[in-house]
Amino acid sequence: MADRALRGMGLGSKSFEDEEGVEMAERQEIGFDCPNGHHFEITFSVEAELPGVWECPRCGAESHRSDGTKAEKKKEKPQRTHWDMLTERRSIPELEELLKERLEEIRKE
Ligand SMILES: [Zn+2]
Repeated sequence: MADRALRGMGLGSKSFEDEEGVEMAERQEIGFDCPNGHHFEITFSVEAELPGVWECPRCGAESHRSDGTKAEKKKEKPQRTHWDMLTERRSIPELEELLKERLEEIRKE
C-alpha cells in the first residue's frame, strides 16, 4: 500500500513536470497590424514557422507583422540553381567553348 502510494506520487510529479514543460515552452508574441488600424498579437511557439501575414481577428483583413518581418520562409537564401553553380565555376565564354566542343562530339557520333 505504501509502495503503491509512492509510485502514485512518482507518476504524479512526473506528469506535473511534463505539464510545466509544456507551459514553459518558449513562446513569442508577434504583433500584427491590419490595414484598418487594428493591432493584435498572436502567440507562437518559438519553434513555429512564423507567418508574415495573419488574418485580423476583428475584420478579417490580411495583416502584416508590426515589426515589418516578412514570412520566415522568404528570409532563407534563394536556392541556387545548377546554372548559378555553373556560372560560379566557369565564365560564359568558357561555357560556350565547352558547349561547342560537346556538341561537336555529339554530332560526330
Ligand atoms: Zn482589422
